[in-house]
Amino acid sequence: MTDCLFCKIVAKEIPAEIVYENDGALAFRDINPQAPTHVLVIPKEHHADAAALARADQGLADEVLKAAHAVAVQEGVADEGYRVVFNTGPGAGQTVFHVHAHVLGGRNLTWPPG
Ligand code: 5GP
Ligand code: ZN
Repeated sequence: MTDCLFCKIVAKEIPAEIVYENDGALAFRDINPQAPTHVLVIPKEHHADAAALARADQGLADEVLKAAHAVAVQEGVADEGYRVVFNTGPGAGQTVFHVHAHVLGGRNLTWPPG
């Protein structure tokens, strides 16, 4: 998608601090971190949200999840606990419509979220 911010990060047209990559997924630090670890994990291929990705390509959804958990290990937050969030739709706070998992950790995370 030519007009998608995260497709531009995949294409290296916009800089990002990339921390992890596998065949299908890319992980980079959120520009406005909400926790000491706040990494976004996206499929390199454009899908609007988690529901669209799950419908279109289960294998790719699996790669995104595997990348999210690999990021948690790499960031050193896997043992203490971390959160993987897909905001799905505007009512849930999704603002970038290229599916992304937020990987959050490094501080106490309360539940339920706001
Ligand atoms: P959403 O609200 O859609 O679940 O999350 C979008 C996330 O993308 C936000 O946490 C926001 O800080 C992050 N973000 C927006 N623009 C950029 C950008 O240009 N670079 C990076 N690294 N993160 C961004
Ligand atoms: Zn995109």
